[in-house]
Amino acid sequence: MARPLWFVKLLKKAFPNVKLIAKLTNLPILGTLIDHLLFKGDDIIYLPQDKVININKPLEEYDEYVLPSQVLEYFINKSKNHWVMNFCICRSSMGCKDFPQELGCLFLGDAVLDINPQLGRLVSKEEALEHLNKCRDAGLVQMIGRNRLDAQWLGVREGEKLLSICNCDPCCCLWRVSSILAPKIGAKIKKMPGVTVQVSDKCIGCGSCTEGICFVNAISLINDKAIINGNCRGCGRCVDICPQKAIELTIQDKRYIQKSLKELDRIINVA
Ligand code: SF4
Ligand code: SF4
Ligand code: SF4
Repeated sequence: MARPLWFVKLLKKAFPNVKLIAKLTNLPILGTLIDHLLFKGDDIIYLPQDKVININKPLEEYDEYVLPSQVLEYFINKSKNHWVMNFCICRSSMGCKDFPQELGCLFLGDAVLDINPQLGRLVSKEEALEHLNKCRDAGLVQMIGRNRLDAQWLGVREGEKLLSICNCDPCCCLWRVSSILAPKIGAKIKKMPGVTVQVSDKCIGCGSCTEGICFVNAISLINDKAIINGNCRGCGRCVDICPQKAIELTIQDKRYIQKSLKELDRIINVA
């Protein structure tokens, strides 16, 4: 059942405690229960920004599907129904000052017809694409996938017909908790297949990449060199920020787009 506005207001009040709730997922029985209620069947792929992609083959060898944003275009074209939220619940709950609170999630699939019309609006394919472009221009980075939590808070009946596209920021987005969640839940928020992020010898240890850039705190300075740990989800923000161009995001597998499409097509029906 579509959630009433009072429910959403309540959720916003609870939102600042999200890290505490994430920690609870590590408790044996409670964690299993939270996983079942909020994350069952989830599979979310973080898409690197197109501009930071370093494909280790000549571009002409990739006749189709080269950029991560094409995963978004594929699903927008495939879906009959597109829904833009009037606000980003994460940024508005946290009173975000650095990124626009009015640029929220894009949802695709028939399940969007269950969402409370006071929370957003149905849009055309063109408007959906425009929304994502606007988000990218504002410095937001996108992730896409099945997210039971969205189905729950929006009150849609068929979660397998709801595809979520988050426009993520590094400061307020819910998915900052990815590295705090119980590992089996955190693993549902993934890097794009075939993506690696590495620091080269060009690093001078300036520390710029460690200052509020990484949403999962995957970068630290050790012996004056940036080190990226296994929490990295391959968003590419650090690549973009490094003044030395010392961080490289590389795609090793030319089928990375098709693999992502296949993975999401398997679990979500937006047709
Ligand atoms: S998931 Fe992303 S776009 Fe959606 S409400 Fe949170 S930060 Fe905003
Ligand atoms: S921003 Fe670049 S040069 Fe500075 S610490 Fe990070 S990787 Fe090294
Ligand atoms: S280290 Fe952090 S900022 Fe850099 S690509 Fe990985 S997740 Fe993104």
